[in-house]
Amino acid sequence: MRISRRITAAVAASLIPLLALPAEHGDAAAARKLTRAAIKPTKPETCDPRKFRIILDVGHTSESQGATSARNDVEFGFNLYLARMVGERLKSAGFAATRVLVTDGKARASLLKRVGTANDAHADFFLSIHHDSVPDKMLEAWEFDGAKSYFSDRFSGHSLFVSERNPRFAASLAFARLLGRELKDEGLHYATQYTLPLMGRYQHPLLDKDVGIYRYDGLVVLSQTRSAAVLLEAGSIINRDEEMAMNSPERRELIAAAVTKAMRTYCEKR
Ligand SMILES: [Zn+2]
Repeated sequence: MRISRRITAAVAASLIPLLALPAEHGDAAAARKLTRAAIKPTKPETCDPRKFRIILDVGHTSESQGATSARNDVEFGFNLYLARMVGERLKSAGFAATRVLVTDGKARASLLKRVGTANDAHADFFLSIHHDSVPDKMLEAWEFDGAKSYFSDRFSGHSLFVSERNPRFAASLAFARLLGRELKDEGLHYATQYTLPLMGRYQHPLLDKDVGIYRYDGLVVLSQTRSAAVLLEAGSIINRDEEMAMNSPERRELIAAAVTKAMRTYCEKR
């Protein structure tokens, strides 16, 4: 249905209220203190690739599929394909304890499940993989495959998010910088729109304007994980050209190689 499709695209734009902590609406400082007190980081800061437990979190679920692309594919599928490719490349590079995490259920419940799984598994690193869209008000209508569809070619690019509430904020930021650098070196650009007032509640502080790292404290998967955690919006699937690129094995390979290189450097520096 057209209406529900618009709602899906908007809701899943996609890091939205379901992903936000109540703290955003209350006393943020007090909540942050509480969160910090409650979450203790896992112990070892060393990195032996064979034992380094990386969780590749596939954004959204088969039940709650995230954003809808310009050509009416769901974000969950994009996330799954990319995460699998990244997982294969990391394992080939010696990161044997890498795990692709697919979660089921409704959006909010699935977030808590992801965090619970990562913390229970004593993960050393948590990388959440998503694909981007835009707020509903920016959508334009077009016809694809005989169906009324929605797109926005206005913005494109990947982006990286970290949370200061994560107990390993510095390590998270360090990895995000390494990955951002790799993507930039491959000629990719980051999404700049998150600094713009028109993004409303999706506006975020830009921590690194060279490689595109934003701070997003309201994300459960970043703020509640004990390990270092980064969320990658790999690219926009509401942008018609970028959607085609994101759907290609070549782009998936390129991103998987960038993650692998970044992880290798990150690990060496532990
Ligand atoms: Zn998403």
